[in-house]
Amino acid sequence: MSLELDLGPAARAFRDELRQWLEANRPESMVGIDAERASFGNVPGLEDWTRKLYEAGYMCVSWPKEYGGRGLSGVEVAVMNEEFARAGVPRVTRGMGEWLVGPSIIVWGTDEQKAHFLPRIIDGTDRYCQGFSEPDAGSDLAGLKTRGVVDGEEVVISGQKVWTSGAQAANMMFCLCRTDPDAPKHKGISYVLTPMFREDGSSNGFELRPIKQMTGQAHFTETFITEARAPVFNVIGGLHNGWRVTMTTLGNERGGNATTQHVQYTRQFWDAVELTRKYGREGDPRVRQQLAWAFTHCEIMRFQGLKVLSEVVAKKEPGPAASINKMFWSEYAQRFAEIVMNIRGADSMITSDAGPSETEGSGYQPDPWQSAFLSTRSVTIWGGTAQVQRNIVGERVLGLPKEPDMEAQRRGVGADADTREKA
Ligand SMILES: Cc1cc2nc3c(=O)[nH]c(=O)nc-3n(C[C@H](O)[C@H](O)[C@H](O)COP(=O)(O)OP(=O)(O)OC[C@H]3O[C@@H](n4cnc5c(N)ncnc54)[C@H](O)[C@@H]3O)c2cc1C
Repeated sequence: MSLELDLGPAARAFRDELRQWLEANRPESMVGIDAERASFGNVPGLEDWTRKLYEAGYMCVSWPKEYGGRGLSGVEVAVMNEEFARAGVPRVTRGMGEWLVGPSIIVWGTDEQKAHFLPRIIDGTDRYCQGFSEPDAGSDLAGLKTRGVVDGEEVVISGQKVWTSGAQAANMMFCLCRTDPDAPKHKGISYVLTPMFREDGSSNGFELRPIKQMTGQAHFTETFITEARAPVFNVIGGLHNGWRVTMTTLGNERGGNATTQHVQYTRQFWDAVELTRKYGREGDPRVRQQLAWAFTHCEIMRFQGLKVLSEVVAKKEPGPAASINKMFWSEYAQRFAEIVMNIRGADSMITSDAGPSETEGSGYQPDPWQSAFLSTRSVTIWGGTAQVQRNIVGERVLGLPKEPDMEAQRRGVGADADTREKA
């Protein structure tokens, strides 16, 4: 198996340098831990490995050098992902701070905001969660009701968010709130970097109620916010002007992980080949056909990822084509998990003791393949559903006529969909 792409002499030099660094610094305790598991924490040795990567300058690598990043090109980021995969160690990142908030601050923040917030993401001081979705505002995100009231030099925020991934590990929320209730719905929203704790360590009006997923884990919460205070300085893009910033964030959510997906899925593919041999199914023409389909898709994902990343580097933010990426990998992941369940046959129905310890007490412990099957049900929902991505591709990439907004027509306010589609 080769994960390596030949991407020209500059990328080759970067690959050599990184490979040497990884050989010299890779801790044995991290080998075999993938980035997804690392992102949930609780892995012995992870803190040391994270510090080592930070000290070597391997955090927020695609951010421009002037903002503390490494200014890596899309190709170099792809190389980096491949080399970490090759070394078998997780490429730890600063999560949503690195992937979603930082790039949005770079595009929309003032110089003072960039100088204050970006270094705190890079050094791990600020760990972000996303406060966008609400019980009645998911695809129709601009329908959000959380209120923000300016009180002197502060915004006071109250409302309810839901599906807040990683909230338990975060100390900051990039929170959308309605600061101008009289403006048209996507014009009165502010994007506020909201501390979840006060200076004295007490909660800044945040109550987190974990939601248990069908994998048995609880990686997200319902989040109740009561009079959380954030300085007006923390409003990105200006008061009432958060919608455009939001679109930048959502573009990165769909396309920003473009070069990491294929690495994970290619490794999973080869694990599945091993599994197929173990079950003696490698001669089954139907299984062979399905594995060939999967391998082809991983390769397409790799090249599509490079295309999206080049777009990000050229324009600073991914365009609507990032939706193709999101749609492609998420639907692939679901289908592939089903293929593996079929290869394992009846065994895929039996829960084992091999599951992650976080599921203890849930009554069952899915193994990693079962977990993948269960957790991939959600990937066509988060970051904008598959249906919403199709709307974006249809209308904004292919230029098809816009879908009529039946609800808006009923209310007589014009056909303006106002959904997450407005990238
Ligand atoms: C695992 C997971 C993690 C998440 N993490 C976060 C997080 O950290 N922070 C956060 O803010 N949110 C998070 N979310 C929420 C996620 O962004 C929303 O679930 C998603 O945007 C869909 O919104 P909804 O659930 O309200 O569904 P709805 O918007 O109510 O959609 C219901 C159905 O209607 C369809 N639909 C809606 N509008 C249209 C349309 N215009 N055209 C065609 N079909 C349409 C949808 O595709 C879907 O099938 C997470 C969700 C999941 C599953």
